[in-house]
Amino acid sequence: MRFMDKVVFVTGGAQGIGRAIAEMFYAEGAAVAVNDINNEELSHFVINLSNAENNKGQIIAVPGDISEENAVADMIQTVTDQLGSVDILVNNAGISPRNNGKKSTVEEMTLEEWERVFAVNLRSQFLTSRAVISKMKERGWGRIINVSSEAARKRPSPIVGANYVASKTGVLGLTRCLAIELAPFGVTVNAICPGLVASDMLADVESNETKQHVGDIPVGRLGDPKDLANGIRFLADPSSEYITGAVLDVNGGHFMP
Ligand code: NAD
Repeated sequence: MRFMDKVVFVTGGAQGIGRAIAEMFYAEGAAVAVNDINNEELSHFVINLSNAENNKGQIIAVPGDISEENAVADMIQTVTDQLGSVDILVNNAGISPRNNGKKSTVEEMTLEEWERVFAVNLRSQFLTSRAVISKMKERGWGRIINVSSEAARKRPSPIVGANYVASKTGVLGLTRCLAIELAPFGVTVNAICPGLVASDMLADVESNETKQHVGDIPVGRLGDPKDLANGIRFLADPSSEYITGAVLDVNGGHFMP
C-alpha cells in the first residue's frame, strides 16, 4: 500500500497497459482517476474494480478526449474536486493507427492522420502536464511518467508509421525538458518505453509478423501490461526521487541502447 496518500491520474486506462497501471495503483492504495475516450469500456472497468471483493480504495472514471485542451482542464478540475490534486500523472494514452493492418507510409499519409497521432500521443502529454504542474510545485512533490515506445529508441520497425515514431520521439524531448524545469521542486519526470506488449494495439499486427518479433526477444515472450505497471511503480515510488529525465526500457531485452 505504498501509494496510500497519493492521487493518481492515468490516461487511456480503460484497457491494455493503462488499465494494468490503474489496477496497480489501486492495489497499492492510491486514489485513482482513470481517463479514456472509450466511455463504455472505462465505465465497465471502474465499476467492476470498485465492486470487487478486495476493494482497496477510491477509483473514479474521467472520460474524455485527452488531446482536447478544454476537456483536459475539465478533467483535472473533476479529479481535484473529487480526490484532491494530482500527485502522480501517468500519460499513457496513445494510438498507432493502421488501415487494414497496414501502416500508412509518409507518401500516403494525410495531414489529418499525421496531426491526430501527434495530438493523442504528444499534445495530450503537454496539456495534462501543464495542468498539474503548479499544484505539484506548491506541494514540493510530484511524479510525471510519460509512455513513449521502443519505436523512439531504435531503427523503427516496418509496422509503425512515421507519425507514431515521430510523436513518441517527441515524448522523450518533452520528458527531458520538463524534468529540468521541475527538478528544483521535488517533481520527477521520466519516460517509459514499452517493447512489444500483448494489447489491442499489438493485436492489429498479423500474427506471423508478431511471432517473428517474439523470436528476437531474449526473455522469450511478449510483454504483459503488468510488466509496464511494475516499471511505473518503481518510477513513481518516493524512493526514486533522484531519477529524473530518464528513459526506462521495458522490452524483455528486445532493444538495448
Ligand atoms: P491500447 O490501444 O490497448 O490502449 C490505449 C487506450 O488509450 C485505449 O483504451 C484507448 O481508448 C485510449 N485512447 C485512445 N485515444 C484516446 C484519447 N484521445 N483520449 C483518451 N484515451 C484515448 O494500447 P496499449 O498497448 O495499452 O498502449 C498504451 C500506451 O503504450 C500507448 O501510448 C502506446 O503507444 C504505448 N506502447 C504500446 C506498445 C504495445 O506493444 N502495445 C508498445 C510501445 C508503446
